Amino acid sequence: MSTEGNRALVFMRKKRRKKKQEGYLLMIVPNEKGKIKSVNIPYLVFISFFVIMTINVYYLVRYPFRISEIWKLEYHILELRQTIAKQDKELRRLDPCLKATQVMASKLNSSNRFFVDMKLEYDKLRNTRTKEKDLAYREVYLPGYRLSSADQDHSKLEILNSNLSYLEEELAFTSSALDDLFKNYKTYDRQLDFIPTIWPLARDRRISSGFGYRRHPVHKRVILHQGIDIPSRTGTPVRATAEGQVTIAGNRGGYGLLVEINHGNGYRTRYGHNSRLAVRVGQKVKKGQIIAYVGNTGTSTGPHVHYEVRLNNVPVDPRPYLN
Ligand SMILES: [Zn+2]
Repeated sequence: MSTEGNRALVFMRKKRRKKKQEGYLLMIVPNEKGKIKSVNIPYLVFISFFVIMTINVYYLVRYPFRISEIWKLEYHILELRQTIAKQDKELRRLDPCLKATQVMASKLNSSNRFFVDMKLEYDKLRNTRTKEKDLAYREVYLPGYRLSSADQDHSKLEILNSNLSYLEEELAFTSSALDDLFKNYKTYDRQLDFIPTIWPLARDRRISSGFGYRRHPVHKRVILHQGIDIPSRTGTPVRATAEGQVTIAGNRGGYGLLVEINHGNGYRTRYGHNSRLAVRVGQKVKKGQIIAYVGNTGTSTGPHVHYEVRLNNVPVDPRPYLN
């Protein structure tokens, strides 16, 4: 190594030592008598002291601002707590709503059961066999949920929503099914207007002679009695037992003064032995309309109406048709 290099190294070491020794002298001077005390504070310690002081001052100044921020936050937390309490209370109200959906489901189930009963009755009326699938009623089943369980309120809302949409669908199904059945009933009701289901006399229900083979009271022979005899006082109104058109209105031998009505679908009814007629041939009559008055005309032993139901021109027992 050269002497030049050595000299430079020595110089640098001296400079560093000098720097280390640099600093400040803290002097404590008593205001009266006494010795002046002095402490040497190294440069590094002095600088550190100032840095620490500056940091402290910074925090000291910042502190009041932080405090006010904390106050604001505390107030906000209080507000949030109140909101949560309010929402909590509202969520508790979901319980009765959920219960209501369960009640609705059970009501819908009884409606569906009622629908099946109605369908059965309808099929019985129409003399049609009820299909197996129609006998099983559509059961509304809401997902199991216990109100007492500590379920999450959030999921309660989900359950409520799903229950409501499910019930909406089921209600639509039930009401459309009932609608269809109602339409069928209405159609059947109209068809019933053309089927002889009422008694020809409003009050008299006693049958003195039924349908079938019997010994004729006048001819004294066993012959088929083609209808039923209902005795009544002369002049009692005779009613059309179904809607239709008059095909006979006049004297017909043993029948006496006879009315015959064509109801369509192969049905005709006859009313014999009348004292007086109230309709003409070709006239359209409603179910229950007065067509004649009870009498004793033709082959008869006393005032009565001889009532016949004919299906495709064959006399049938009117009894099963009367309600
Ligand atoms: Zn008769």
